[in-house]
Amino acid sequence: MATAYSDIQPEDYQPDVDHPQHGVIIGGPAARAKKLEYGILLASMVIGSLGALYWTLTQSTGWVEWSAFLSGYVIINMGVGIGYHRFYTHKSFETSRPMRYAIAIMAQLACQASVLKWAADHRRHHAFADRVGDLHSPHVDGFGKPMKGFKGFAIAHFGWLFDNTTSDMNVYGKGLIDDDAVLFAHRTRWFWVAVSMIGIPVVWALTFGTVENIIGTILIGGFFRTFFFLNLVMGVNSIGHMFGSQRFKTGDKGRNLWWLALLTFGDGWHNNHHRHPRSAYAGIMWWEIDINGYIISLWERMGLVWNVQRAPKYERNAAGEWVQITKLAVPADENSPEVLSEPDGGVMFRDEKPAASPKHPVESA
Ligand SMILES: [Zn+2]
Ligand SMILES: [Zn+2]
Repeated sequence: MATAYSDIQPEDYQPDVDHPQHGVIIGGPAARAKKLEYGILLASMVIGSLGALYWTLTQSTGWVEWSAFLSGYVIINMGVGIGYHRFYTHKSFETSRPMRYAIAIMAQLACQASVLKWAADHRRHHAFADRVGDLHSPHVDGFGKPMKGFKGFAIAHFGWLFDNTTSDMNVYGKGLIDDDAVLFAHRTRWFWVAVSMIGIPVVWALTFGTVENIIGTILIGGFFRTFFFLNLVMGVNSIGHMFGSQRFKTGDKGRNLWWLALLTFGDGWHNNHHRHPRSAYAGIMWWEIDINGYIISLWERMGLVWNVQRAPKYERNAAGEWVQITKLAVPADENSPEVLSEPDGGVMFRDEKPAASPKHPVESA
């Protein structure tokens, strides 16, 4: 099979030790490539952010630098939440070819490896959430060893980027490795890193300021912005699996955390998301602000996207339990890796199980 990944993980690669879970590869060229890629991205973001701190303390920065930060933050928040996550990982809506490219490029501007890698990794997270095989759980490491406290947080946040496991593209990359927009984004990802961290800030500085604003805008609107937002996305994996509330018993530790949801444009409603991964909306109740969900609804009204997947509606009964009040179009299914890696991104909707063998009053009499 011609995969964009064959340049990194040859198909004849045989690991010395097999991982206990399906579709997880130990060692080899892909693990080396992963560590190198994230090492370069993270190191440049950290060094650039330290530069941004120095610059803010020693130079006069103002609205040119910080408006670049804010507008770029909005774009990559949409790129990650709608692009990497809801569209490419979960196929929560359908769209046209130009939109697929636009969404993929917006995602790449967040500088979090390629859409291909991000989406495949995230599918694996859903397949094994907080069990052996999950790549970034604060409760078990990549090999299933239990963790807690700060160590768990640190590994779920950034540590997992440098462990020795990778996701098998032939399992989790289905529907991605033969998508032309995904392959384009994968091959050109370093170009978009340069555009996001340097190109756009330079143009922004020259458009709204002067040559004097260039360095500050690169440091604040380029490097610090991508690092700040990377922490929020990784925060969903770490903080979002440790702190917050759980409306649904999903079997994993994903939680709803309102402030993280606000900052990530919705993805912080992470318990809702683990309950209904394929929904284009992470907010389930009207008061659960989900900015990326509103943007998808706007795009739907404009005719830019269609077949938008929606979680069912819930309400609280007299006993204080959350009950599903509408049915799903897609029937219940197992949350197995094979299902999650189906070409459609997996039938990731699961209906509420019917109440334990409801018996007709006459039958049970
Ligand atoms: Zn999760
Ligand atoms: Zn997800």
